[in-house]
Amino acid sequence: MSNQGKERPIKASEIDPTFKYELQKIHGAENFLQCFQCGTCTSDCPVARFSDSYRPRTLIHMAQLGLKDRVLNSDTLWLCAACFTCTDRCPQDVEVANVIRVFCNLAVEKGCVPQVFRDQAQSLVETGYAYKIPELRLKKRESQGLPPLPKGNTDAVKKILKDVKFFKRIQQQQKPQGETPNV
Ligand code: SF4
Ligand code: SF4
Repeated sequence: MSNQGKERPIKASEIDPTFKYELQKIHGAENFLQCFQCGTCTSDCPVARFSDSYRPRTLIHMAQLGLKDRVLNSDTLWLCAACFTCTDRCPQDVEVANVIRVFCNLAVEKGCVPQVFRDQAQSLVETGYAYKIPELRLKKRESQGLPPLPKGNTDAVKKILKDVKFFKRIQQQQKPQGETPNV
């Protein structure tokens, strides 16, 4: 995966002129072509404020240009905190946060998922928690007289991940490290 890719010159062969039509058919991204690149979304984005590379305006511009692979391979996509500030402030009524979500969903379909999210999915399947709680911390809770953590509903999690074909999709391009759960 790469960052937003604006440092590399664009080659004509990278441009997919059909990408914009594909996006316009997906709920949440229908009006992304209305973006006139004012930069309000980026300037008000709390993540962009602390990141050198995350720029929602740039991602939308890249999509308008048809740079599908650059958008979907961008690991900065995943930095969006889904706070919807950009959507509230966009003067063109572009649902920016939803457009970013659509990019992430398309990236998952291509198997472009950062390892950290693969790890979280693996942990959810095994424990019902997004993060594996270290044994030491569990013992510390016990020593402090705290009750044991409730057991996660791993059956429900497995069913959801199976229904959305999560692991099959992320296996298409890049195999996650370690065992892939059988869902
Ligand atoms: S605020 Fe809206 S119009 Fe302005 S750059 Fe962002 S998406 Fe485009
Ligand atoms: S929804 Fe994402 S892109 Fe929009 S302002 Fe929040 S963090 Fe930034």
